[in-house]
Amino acid sequence: MTERLYLKDCYIRDFEATIVEITSHGVALDRSAFFPEGGGQLGDRGTLKWEEGELKVINTRQLQGKIIHELDIVEGLRVGMQIKGEIEWTRRYQLMRSHTAQHLISRYFQLHLQAETVSNQLKIEINRLDLSPLSKLSSDELNTITIQINALISTNMPVTISFLQRDEAIKFLEEKEYQTQYLDMVPKSVQEFRIISINEYDWAACAGTHVQNTSEIGQVFLEKTVNKGKQRERVYYSLT
Ligand SMILES: [Zn+2]
Repeated sequence: MTERLYLKDCYIRDFEATIVEITSHGVALDRSAFFPEGGGQLGDRGTLKWEEGELKVINTRQLQGKIIHELDIVEGLRVGMQIKGEIEWTRRYQLMRSHTAQHLISRYFQLHLQAETVSNQLKIEINRLDLSPLSKLSSDELNTITIQINALISTNMPVTISFLQRDEAIKFLEEKEYQTQYLDMVPKSVQEFRIISINEYDWAACAGTHVQNTSEIGQVFLEKTVNKGKQRERVYYSLT
């Protein structure tokens, strides 16, 4: 198992670690701050450096509890080597901002339009989430929602991380009206849940990376919706 440094601190940009495995695709380290692709968030990119050289990490994935840092080539590396990992920060920070915005947008739609988030995907330029049950929204309605979500963001709400035991977490999130039905999909072997709280507005079980305060998000812009089936709308949003 790779120790996941981003779970407690999403702002770690570089770290030291030891190579524990080399595969044809990349390397696993004993600890890593690289976020592996999952939950709608792209995997991190960056660099692995050592005394004699450096290699680009082109993607990060998870495989059987390990974080695999995918490399174009694995030359010059050996198991046991000490390396320094550096995350491509501009890209990751953009994803942290978009991801935190997604929590707010999902909560807004749950509270005001009784629509649940059924999937989401964060990209660098444009992000999307699918909501249901939801009917087509006019551009006027989208503008109003954009204004209201930006008003929420501008209250500078702190975003905090906490850890709760599985049963305790599910009970807590049910009280907060989080969509706990999805938590059944988390393997039973996972006994500790990571809870992301946005002040007194939103609570979610999430393993992704987020900013520490909504002020870091900037402004969101809900661009359009596209119908994706009965009572299901895909909302596209970007950050400005
Ligand atoms: Zn999240």
